[in-house]
Amino acid sequence: MDIEEFREFGKASVDYIASYFENIRKIDVISKVEPGYLKNELPETVPLRGESWHKVLEDVDKVILPGLTHWHSPHFHAFFPTANSFPGVVGELLLSGLGSLSKDWETNPACIELEIRMMDWLGKMLGLPEEFLNESDGPGGGVIQNAASEATFLGLLCGKQRTIASQSEDQVSSKLVAYTSKESNSSVEKAGLLASVPMRLLPTDQNGSLRGRTLQAAIKKDKEAGLVPCCVVATLGTTGTCAFDNLEEIGTVCHEEGVWLHVDAAYAGAVFACPEYRHLMKGVQFADSFNFNPHKWMLVNSDCSAMWFKDTRNAEAALRVKTNLPNPSVFEPDIQHWQIPDSRRFRALKIWFVLRIYGVEGVQKHIRRQIALARFFQQLVEVDDRFEVCASSMGLVCFRVKGEDVFTRVLLDGVSKRGKIFLTPYFYREQLVVRFVICSRFTERGDILFAWREIVRVLEEQVFPCKI
Ligand code: PLP
Repeated sequence: MDIEEFREFGKASVDYIASYFENIRKIDVISKVEPGYLKNELPETVPLRGESWHKVLEDVDKVILPGLTHWHSPHFHAFFPTANSFPGVVGELLLSGLGSLSKDWETNPACIELEIRMMDWLGKMLGLPEEFLNESDGPGGGVIQNAASEATFLGLLCGKQRTIASQSEDQVSSKLVAYTSKESNSSVEKAGLLASVPMRLLPTDQNGSLRGRTLQAAIKKDKEAGLVPCCVVATLGTTGTCAFDNLEEIGTVCHEEGVWLHVDAAYAGAVFACPEYRHLMKGVQFADSFNFNPHKWMLVNSDCSAMWFKDTRNAEAALRVKTNLPNPSVFEPDIQHWQIPDSRRFRALKIWFVLRIYGVEGVQKHIRRQIALARFFQQLVEVDDRFEVCASSMGLVCFRVKGEDVFTRVLLDGVSKRGKIFLTPYFYREQLVVRFVICSRFTERGDILFAWREIVRVLEEQVFPCKI
């Protein structure tokens, strides 16, 4: 492909994406293809001769589009949002096109320096304590990671390393233990597996939040058994119901016990861009590491997960290895040692695009709008006495059909089969609930009414007949 063809291919692809978004409301959010559908559509081996880009783009439409779940459809209400915005798309295009990777500053000054500045922009926008910022006088700092799962794993590794370093005993590794709540994301338990540290899943209160006294009791029990607590992972915005752990209580316990506190705010962290929600992160000054995903609720296309350390020397102690490269970087901070991969993509570029083009006000407007849409949906559920709301927070509403779980199960199956809206189930306080999340930035009140009519229709056509 020569440069003129690249120009045409690129422009045609941007046009294709623009038309996709223009028409997204008309397409069913859930694909109707059967498992294995693609097998018959594609040749079994690589084509011998290169094909024209026209043909490839045509096949995206013909073969790929029918098998897509439309995560940015205004009718996608599953999981949590995966960010998408036009500045984010273009940022991703440019960072891929400019093809810049970096390791240390010498390998790519713009990439490293923009990342350092963007992490400070984000940290200030969320109202994080200054000691987390790269520009602070102390050892704090932030970097972009691939995912919240990876950030949790890194937090745990740091806690593990710091605890081992503080103990005189030899065999301490086999005695380490970490804590989180039963409501935390499965990636937290996975981090424990990867780091070979048992992760205790502690019970929450009636609001789904982990409390200080529960943590304190678990730590006491383990210490009496000769174990060594090394890390607590608190969640601000749990995956199931978007509950907030009590960070102030948990942080106090961690502080007193000298245990590393990692905060997983993967989805809900973005809400702290709006000062009226900052009370939910009271106690954040106790955190040793803090993470949220701009690639969830903050309009920066995936992947982009922001992580801060209060003392980056812990990250270096846990992750830095001696290399046989002759020259150490002349630039500080040397953020390459705060991550797992050897190199980093120029993801700061898309953050820069999004933050400049939206501004703080644009981000706040997006978040407040999505929360208001969730409350609008909640009101629709609340006035219908066939349903009950079980939890609601931020852009999420959990509800169920009153009565046995089977009714909610039939509702979920019926909705999913029709494919007009996408919902996900969750078990909350031993009951099946439906999670309804405002995900797409295209979702409007009309789409909420559309979703509600769909839910009521399935209830009346499929759940009620089975109730009788
Ligand atoms: N933590 C929480 C609270 C989440 O809700 C999720 C995903 O939804 C994750 C972690 C995992 O995020 P990632 O896919 O970035 O690893």
